[in-house]
Amino acid sequence: MNASPASIAPQPEPSAAAARFLKRTHKLFIGGEWVDSKSSKRIPVMDPATGREISSVADANAADIERAVAAARQAFEKGPWPEMLPVQREALIWKLSDLIERNADELAELESLNNGKTKFIASVVDIAGTRDYFRYMAGWATKLEGSTFKTSIHGPPGAKFHTFTLREPVGVVGAIVPWNFPLAMASWKLGPALASGCTVVLKPAEQTPITALRFAELIQEAGFPPGVVNIVTGYGETAGAAIVNHPGVDKVAFTGSTEVGKIINKAASDTVKRVSLELGGKSPVVVLPDADLNAVVGGAANAIFFNSGQVCTAGSRLFAHKKVFDQVLEGLSSAAQNIRLGPGLDPKTEMGPLVSKEQQERVLGYIDSGRKDGAKVVAGGEAPSSPGYFVKPTVLANVRPDMRVVREEIFGPVVVAQRFEDLDEIAALANDTPYGLAASVWSRDVSAVHRLVPKIRAGTVWVNCHNFVDPAMPFGGFKQSGFGRESGRAVFEMYTELKSVCIAI
Ligand code: ADP
Repeated sequence: MNASPASIAPQPEPSAAAARFLKRTHKLFIGGEWVDSKSSKRIPVMDPATGREISSVADANAADIERAVAAARQAFEKGPWPEMLPVQREALIWKLSDLIERNADELAELESLNNGKTKFIASVVDIAGTRDYFRYMAGWATKLEGSTFKTSIHGPPGAKFHTFTLREPVGVVGAIVPWNFPLAMASWKLGPALASGCTVVLKPAEQTPITALRFAELIQEAGFPPGVVNIVTGYGETAGAAIVNHPGVDKVAFTGSTEVGKIINKAASDTVKRVSLELGGKSPVVVLPDADLNAVVGGAANAIFFNSGQVCTAGSRLFAHKKVFDQVLEGLSSAAQNIRLGPGLDPKTEMGPLVSKEQQERVLGYIDSGRKDGAKVVAGGEAPSSPGYFVKPTVLANVRPDMRVVREEIFGPVVVAQRFEDLDEIAALANDTPYGLAASVWSRDVSAVHRLVPKIRAGTVWVNCHNFVDPAMPFGGFKQSGFGRESGRAVFEMYTELKSVCIAI
């Protein structure tokens, strides 16, 4: 890593294609057309590296959501979509992935400009991940199936039955996604929805709507029937809530904060919607005494500082055994100090800003609370002087389990480092959180790993790595990190209904 320079470099000029797209008057994508929102209000779109407005999008209200849901219902019930052969749906989803690949550079640039992450990460993680997610999911369109089985029904003498299940699409899906991986999180909802024959109303986060709008153009170009995918930009409390409350939406797929997940889960119960929630985390990184410390230092730094810590699986609680704690803390702190902050389009940048001023203030507020509670700031702990929303990579030590910085999700580049002594107590320490999204264990002792993994209450446990996901690998939370699994075969439990058919023959 390069030594971090004292000041933040300027954001380079965007490409002509990205600049042209940002300049457009963005509308809502409903029923296969670009339509004006009912209200003339706009939502500003910021470049978090400069704090400057780079575009604006429509502020959809309940009347716009009404229109989008009607288009999705029409496409689900009467359009060509329900009659399309699975292989035709597969081909369309694959075509979409090809269009993503063809426009990858522009999409990565737009994601970087709007979210703050580096264009490199946007390219290799967000956009390549989105492309591959659709490719993986395309194949499932032709592979979903029910089963046949024998029953023991005591019917009248001589009666016989033929019984089987049909796996059918759940209907209209309301997809509400966050700002940390804007297009990738949309693909995690759209991929399985489209493969299973659902139609979708997608609402990107108000902070990061830009790539979803460029993506809507690719939906058009791929040739999806009108109304299969509708994309509305708007705020959570208005447009998002209208999706959750709408009786024409059969399922809500949500990724975001635990706080909002609880609100959505309550609201969706009025219409008994299917709900899947992928929520917050406070994931432990557990370093056993025999671990390869070189791998641990890089791995623990990546676990927390990747995407500026704005990752639901961020390794934000480091537990290192007392034999290795000092070395790990020193290595991690020096890695933190050497990370080069900067704007996303500068190829020298290693870590971008946080997504918004609000998020920057929230994270700095947590660091202050840690300081006041007696934590020691070993690295970072402040914002560099810049109009952008940067926070230096921060390592806190001397923390106690009751501190807010240890208990609450910070969603920024802040890790709390703790020492442990007894291998028998580590599972309890790792599990001492309301969350259960992910964890990592670092060790070369295969028996110790296999003994520990089953004791950790989390949806994903990485061993000697952290933050790796794949379309084939089920992903989701235990405890207050949510319910339902995305990715893999498991995701189709949430996008399909199982219908039993019993025929007296
Ligand atoms: P964060 O707190 O990290 O900004 P949120 O959980 O608030 O993340 O946002 C995730 C997504 O949920 C965004 O698209 C946001 O607009 C949406 N959202 C926020 N509040 C609500 C709500 N009350 N109902 C539906 N969607 C919401």
